[in-house]
Amino acid sequence: MPHILVVGSLNMDLVVEVPAIPQPGETILGKNFATFPGGKGANQAVAAARLGAQVSLIGRVGQDAFGDQLLASARAEGIDVTHVGRDETAATGVAMIVVNEQGQNSIAVASGANFCLTADHVRQAWPALNDVDLLVMPLETPLETIETAVHLANEAGVTVVLNPAPACALSADLLAGVDVLVPNETETAQLTGMPTGTPAESREAARQLLALGVGSVVLTLGSRGALVLDGETEKFILIPARDVEVLDTTAAGDAFVAGLAVALGEGKNLIDAARFANDVGALAVTKQGAQPGMPTREEVEAILEE
Ligand code: ADP
Repeated sequence: MPHILVVGSLNMDLVVEVPAIPQPGETILGKNFATFPGGKGANQAVAAARLGAQVSLIGRVGQDAFGDQLLASARAEGIDVTHVGRDETAATGVAMIVVNEQGQNSIAVASGANFCLTADHVRQAWPALNDVDLLVMPLETPLETIETAVHLANEAGVTVVLNPAPACALSADLLAGVDVLVPNETETAQLTGMPTGTPAESREAARQLLALGVGSVVLTLGSRGALVLDGETEKFILIPARDVEVLDTTAAGDAFVAGLAVALGEGKNLIDAARFANDVGALAVTKQGAQPGMPTREEVEAILEE
């Protein structure tokens, strides 16, 4: 069982269903309200745990009810939350989401305690985390914290998988420490300034990402699957998406990243790991919700047998 360390965000998603997304100054009477545990870090941790990995999470929540709920739900998934700190002043991160009948949404995130996760918090937690095989990180915590985690992982020989979401400018030093970069098309366009709409454009953009210094690139292409550019062979492999009935694409990328990390941790090569991740991502879009939609190992094995 691989040990995966996620350094990342935990948010409470507050979702209101509305007939139409409100315009500035407008009030709309919505329908149902629900709260769901979210945040890319926690989503990736939950997905990895359901796939059978041992998962530790380094993160930060507030000393409030949402913080209690997020910790309880992560624990219920079997995630080690010893190193999710409780910030004395900042509130737990929240995402305010309104969703219309067409499934389109509008989201405002208050990162709160996620942005109080410091490099020192990671340094303090690190020695207690034994036998970590892989470090997985999205970008919803401070960049300095992420850079520190990458350095610690590099020194310890731990493989680094970086999901540059949401996209922001990354230093050459940080990128040089990343073994596998896993962006989606929007993030790729933001990181490279290049389009990704056609297969030739995706390949060009992936080449550009490799030139930025990362070990390998796995570009997720939504309903078109994923493009792997192996840094060792410099060869491209396009993995077509599975033909599934799409219900909710929320957190498909998080499912994919977790699947890739678990498979790499189990010793699969990059291409086989991306194939496994592609199956995990496909299953995630057939179910509603971010964390509730994350498939189990049994569900992935069942579609592999089909
Ligand atoms: P993000 O959620 O970060 O925008 P993508 O939309 O690229 O990421 O999706 C991540 C992965 O999830 C894809 O590479 C693919 O494996 C899977 N996936 C996403 N959408 C679909 C779909 N419509 N059908 C099948 N698989 C999908």
